[in-house]
Amino acid sequence: MATRFEIVLHGANATSLRAAGEEALDEIARIESQLSLYRPTSEIARVNARAAYEPVRVTPPVYNLLKHARDLSGACERAFDITIAPLVRCWGFMGGTGEAADPKQLAEARECIGMAHVHFDDAKQTIQFDRPGVMLDLGAIGKGYAIDRAVEFLLEAGVESALVHGGTSTVYGIGKPMDGGAWKVAVANAFGTPNTDSIALPTITLENEALSVSAIWGRSFEKEGKMLGHVIDPRTGEPTQTAQLATVITKSATDSDALSTALLVLGQPGETTLKQTFPTIRTFIL
Ligand code: AMP
Ligand code: MG
Repeated sequence: MATRFEIVLHGANATSLRAAGEEALDEIARIESQLSLYRPTSEIARVNARAAYEPVRVTPPVYNLLKHARDLSGACERAFDITIAPLVRCWGFMGGTGEAADPKQLAEARECIGMAHVHFDDAKQTIQFDRPGVMLDLGAIGKGYAIDRAVEFLLEAGVESALVHGGTSTVYGIGKPMDGGAWKVAVANAFGTPNTDSIALPTITLENEALSVSAIWGRSFEKEGKMLGHVIDPRTGEPTQTAQLATVITKSATDSDALSTALLVLGQPGETTLKQTFPTIRTFIL
């Protein structure tokens, strides 16, 4: 994830709030070390290195998260898919800011995409790939998952009012802020500042809910006048062009993170179907 997380806490006892906040941030750091494909010692890096050759055992939380990611993928027409990694690499977004993909490598990468290549053994809690070249990337769901775990820590510590934020793309509001209203979050424009001009971006209120934003800007490059960003349509192998920004609000930050990525890929035509599948989500798309 390699990203910045922040927690705003309100309450009477500053010492216990600070302790709870630090514990929650430690939990986020621990999860990053489990999930990052860039850390050679992470569970995901181990799966990526070995699962094509033998079943790889993972811890129960990671096993459950991978299964949940598989189910979400199925529920959103495969627009969200954690087997996206070979395509992310082809398009130069693995640690880079993107470049045109080589057609031969792109064709090879596309052969490795899809959760059908990932086999789960519930009894042994193992993951196995059915071919070499398959690689997992939890970049579209890991931040949300880490935020959900941090929120769990804070609630267990008795925190009643907090805002937990990661990487300017997912935020969770616990309870209400001090003034008693609701947590208000402004969706930023392409330049990372709250919108003040041309396009009407919303301010969203959150109470025990998460908001995630996915956008093609941030990590992107230009080719033939088009902005090609780091969110890739797993079904076509191309950086998505259907929308510029997608926002999903729901009870779970894991789900809002994954579904905002899916919505960016599905674009306006997919918004209605996504809402039919997940009736409680709120969405905004541009
Ligand atoms: P987000 O900012 O949450 O939309 O996540 C984007 C990141 O997830 C990218 O930088 C990739 O690492 C990865 N990714 C790109 N496209 C997809 C996709 N269609 N499904 C799942 N993960 C993706
Ligand atoms: Mg996401």
